[in-house]
Amino acid sequence: MINVTRSSMPPFEEYCEEIKDIWESRWLTNNGAKHKELEKNLCEFLGVDNLTLFVNGHMALEMVIDGMGLSGEVITTPFTFASTTHAIVRNGLTPVFCDINDGDYTIDVNKIESLITEKTSAIIPVHVYGNICDYKKIESIAKKHNLKVIYDAAHAFGEEIDGVKVGNLGDASMFSFHATKVYNTIEGGCVCYKDESLKSTLNNLKNFGIKNAEEVEAVGGNAKMNEFAAAMGLCNLRHIDDEIAKRKAVYERYMSHLDGVSGIKLCKEKDNLKPNYAYFPVVFDGYKYNRDEVAKKLQENDILARKYFYPLTNTYDCYDFDVSKTPVAFDISNKVLTIPMYADLALSDVDRICDIILG
Ligand SMILES: *Cc1c(COP(=O)(O)O)cnc(C)c1O
Repeated sequence: MINVTRSSMPPFEEYCEEIKDIWESRWLTNNGAKHKELEKNLCEFLGVDNLTLFVNGHMALEMVIDGMGLSGEVITTPFTFASTTHAIVRNGLTPVFCDINDGDYTIDVNKIESLITEKTSAIIPVHVYGNICDYKKIESIAKKHNLKVIYDAAHAFGEEIDGVKVGNLGDASMFSFHATKVYNTIEGGCVCYKDESLKSTLNNLKNFGIKNAEEVEAVGGNAKMNEFAAAMGLCNLRHIDDEIAKRKAVYERYMSHLDGVSGIKLCKEKDNLKPNYAYFPVVFDGYKYNRDEVAKKLQENDILARKYFYPLTNTYDCYDFDVSKTPVAFDISNKVLTIPMYADLALSDVDRICDIILG
């Protein structure tokens, strides 16, 4: 059985060695030694000045939205994981859905300005599949209309665009370190941000809004990363370059079989992007089998692909949005399948998966 993803883990002994200190310190959470070390190492790896760790990527996003004091409407896309839209709505804000473009499935920057009203406070675009949004155009729109920009960079760990590490784009970026992501801390996430003064706000929000022993300054929650998660993060960070190199080999093997096949659309590498090969999305458009037929064929062979992202977030039962406003996203969500992609996927299995798709 081949799953769509498989978590990266360090050698068992390495993790055991890393957690020994925790038995000595008996300090399990609340900004412990591992947590501090991981924040420092990630700042370095991601090339950012300000970074705050969280229990997961979702809470990181929820809390940076809260911490930046956004109000009213937020422009975003529905072609994403539930988290992006939920984080906006759970902050009492109204998501305004912008369509995506047909090439890399990120926000269609030419459709943003017509959605801006006097209530708009921010744009929350998604670097979907690790494809980086048109950040230059987004920055110029945000400047012109005085909007904040928070990137959902859950898929973009370790990437660089035009020589810039992606955590530096916008006012803030959220990375997810969930077990299924390129880099994991079991569960975890972080926010990187420009405004240094956000640091104390975020640190308080993730710890019940507690400022010090006698003062509680905000209606916070509990979203702290624990020491065991941070220890996993320290170990996995040592191996991240190798893991991405292995993913690259999988990507290239897939391309060797699928690139150029009529009716199959793939995300191609771009000269200005240092990618992380997080996902391998395939759009079946006019192919001899449709997306659901391919998914079924794979499943019959114990290979799990994912309809990622289907359904669109603006079609969820818990929401009542007008899906006709994002026709490209709707179309792609009906045609896309992410096929297995992880560092340890054997190239012979990649061959077998492609044989089934092409057969
Ligand atoms: C994984 C993911 C998240 C949420 O991250 P968690 O760490 O699982 O909470 C948010 N947005 C996108 C696009 C994701 O893929």
